Amino acid sequence: MNSKYYMDLEHKYGAHNYHPLEVVIAKGKGVWVWDVEGKKYLDFLSAYSAVNQGHCHPKIINTLIEQAQTLTLTSRAFYNNVLGEYEKFVTELFGYDKVLPMNTGVEGDETAVKLARKWAYDVKGIKKYEAKIIVANENFHGRTMMAVSASTDPDCFDGFGPFVPGFEKIPYNNIAALEKALEDPNVAAFLVEPIQGEAGVFVPDEGYLKKAQELCKAKNVLLICDEVQTGLARTGKMLASDYEAVKPDILILGKALSGGVMPVSAALANDEVMLAIKPGQHGSTFGGNPLACKVAIASLEVLIEEKLAENAFAMGTYFRSEVQKMVNEFEHLTLVRGKGLLNAIVIKPAKSGKTAWDVCVALKENGMLAKPTHGDIIRFAPPLVITKDEIDLAVSIIRKVLKDFN
Ligand code: PLP
Repeated sequence: MNSKYYMDLEHKYGAHNYHPLEVVIAKGKGVWVWDVEGKKYLDFLSAYSAVNQGHCHPKIINTLIEQAQTLTLTSRAFYNNVLGEYEKFVTELFGYDKVLPMNTGVEGDETAVKLARKWAYDVKGIKKYEAKIIVANENFHGRTMMAVSASTDPDCFDGFGPFVPGFEKIPYNNIAALEKALEDPNVAAFLVEPIQGEAGVFVPDEGYLKKAQELCKAKNVLLICDEVQTGLARTGKMLASDYEAVKPDILILGKALSGGVMPVSAALANDEVMLAIKPGQHGSTFGGNPLACKVAIASLEVLIEEKLAENAFAMGTYFRSEVQKMVNEFEHLTLVRGKGLLNAIVIKPAKSGKTAWDVCVALKENGMLAKPTHGDIIRFAPPLVITKDEIDLAVSIIRKVLKDFN
């Protein structure tokens, strides 16, 4: 069966809620993937930063196989002999009293919003059902009704109302706007991405997160950091918020928490916040299942043992410096930005009508996979196990494609 067969199958029998690049991947190892025809590509998306540890990491896969043969799911109706071990590991690693385990990233966000609202009513003393959550324009927190209600991106929200109330939207990277929004006594929390990934890798000014934390603290408002995409070594530190020594009141993790093996997410918080939710008030059949817990421990151990944050920092710095040289060289490459190995370039459309999408098609033809995010922006986020030689190869492919782009 060739690629066309599989693409036609998806098109005929699957919902049309994605617009994939025309490549059908059949195998992955480290930073490499292979299509069904056997052609090899550098993966510069890493499943939207879920495969930070590289495709099919042997330690994570072996852990998965071993636990899958022992026990996979009990539900939280009963205890299991892995959940507590994972909870101890993850809370000690990130320095929180407790963790609430979920599955997808957006469920982590949903959990954080529910925790903040419950805390607002039970602890802060906001009048019931008047709590507000401040969010940033151009945010991306996922696809549930909560997340689309918090979104300012028409692709995300248009046509899906009525919306969940209680979200106050302010410009990102704007301290004055946050200060003003915080004057409202009904604000429970500020939910923010330390770098806006989906929006196009927008890195805020240095000190933004730190100042945001100070302002929130002064108003007894929770700071919630959505590190689903930026966390777990992606930006060159274990957490992007580590750059400013900011410890949010609620930390949301997902994606690479399983090394891309299965959906595993988490909301971490201290007791004052976490214990606002009581038995029966929140949960998920699969959240905290023993298979996910074992995989999450192994995935976090790989990040630490292989010093992937350090590698992301070094390789990211090198990658941006190489791409920056091309910004000066090629008319259609207007800028490169990012932190660690979460980077983006901006492409000025060509007179021929070619856009960032055509750049990605040409990259694919030359053996490198990346995808535009929001029009003219292309995100580059390879697995963090990438070597300097592989970065050099990627840079040479980008150079070749840009040379021919007109
Ligand atoms: N939050 C952020 C910052 C994200 O980037 C994403 C996904 O890209 C999500 C939440 C949603 O994660 P999931 O797709 O696993 O629900």
